[in-house]
Amino acid sequence: MPKKSSSESLVFAIDLGGTHLRVALVDVTGRIVQQLKQETPKGDSANCVVAALVHAADAWHTFKPQVIATSIMVPGAVDSNKAVVLGAPNLPSLIDFPLKAELERQLGWPVFLENDANAAAVGEMWRGAARGCRDVVSVTLGTGVGGGVILDGKLWRGSHGSGGEIGHTTVDPFSGLKCKCGNVGCLELFASATAIVRMTRETMSSFPETSLKSDDLTAEKVYDAGLQGDALALAVFKRMGMYLGIGLANLINLIDPQIIVITGGVVNGWDLFVGEMHRQIEERAFRTTAQQVKIAKAECGDNAGLLGAARLALQD
Ligand SMILES: [Zn+2]
Repeated sequence: MPKKSSSESLVFAIDLGGTHLRVALVDVTGRIVQQLKQETPKGDSANCVVAALVHAADAWHTFKPQVIATSIMVPGAVDSNKAVVLGAPNLPSLIDFPLKAELERQLGWPVFLENDANAAAVGEMWRGAARGCRDVVSVTLGTGVGGGVILDGKLWRGSHGSGGEIGHTTVDPFSGLKCKCGNVGCLELFASATAIVRMTRETMSSFPETSLKSDDLTAEKVYDAGLQGDALALAVFKRMGMYLGIGLANLINLIDPQIIVITGGVVNGWDLFVGEMHRQIEERAFRTTAQQVKIAKAECGDNAGLLGAARLALQD
């Protein structure tokens, strides 16, 4: 029998990334009471992941009477109703694994599962840049590009669980660039950290004076070079801003949100891409809508997903 939520209740929230596993105890006001980060257990077996989660929960045994649910976010496609991971390139062992049944058996709390970008959108609406808003889109610019859509205060998962996949909307069908989803010219190919690195390498030969080197290139290095006025870095971020602006203009005309929250590591480059992004939106989206929609940087940082996961469990 699930425990009823009270002001003392806590959610055991889990950010199950391909590289890092982060767990937290979140209270009903969105305060993180305890937090831990470790490497995601490697290995073929999902049982290693389950064991790590049970171990983390055991470390906080004094809080156990207050915990009412486990809520997990994963970077991949999930069936939230059945709490099953359908696809996660960085966590293949979890696909179709009975995560819910296994964790409920070992921890005793009901288990919720959500896609990471969806959870981040909910987190930003609860405690971040979209507080007080009902129609929210969040766009995560990380290794890939994720999206979460909240309509009238409710997370929109779509009819088949794949709603809000902004990163796989087409922004350049003639680019010849194939995305891992199978489509050509997805936003993810131009606005992710991976894309920044690729576009920098592609255009390097046209900028012989650049300080950037092809080896060990990261989006962060391109951003740092941009701050120093490196012409190659500035051109890459401008191009990224152009495609992001095209994607967001499509979104604005489709959804007419109150706010678009931009999150993920690439947000660090904000000053270098935001000008071109706004230019594209002004040119392409309905004028009155574009003038009213707020586009803001996320405020919860790395914790948006953990908070969103906790919120989704508390709402249920
Ligand atoms: Zn794609």
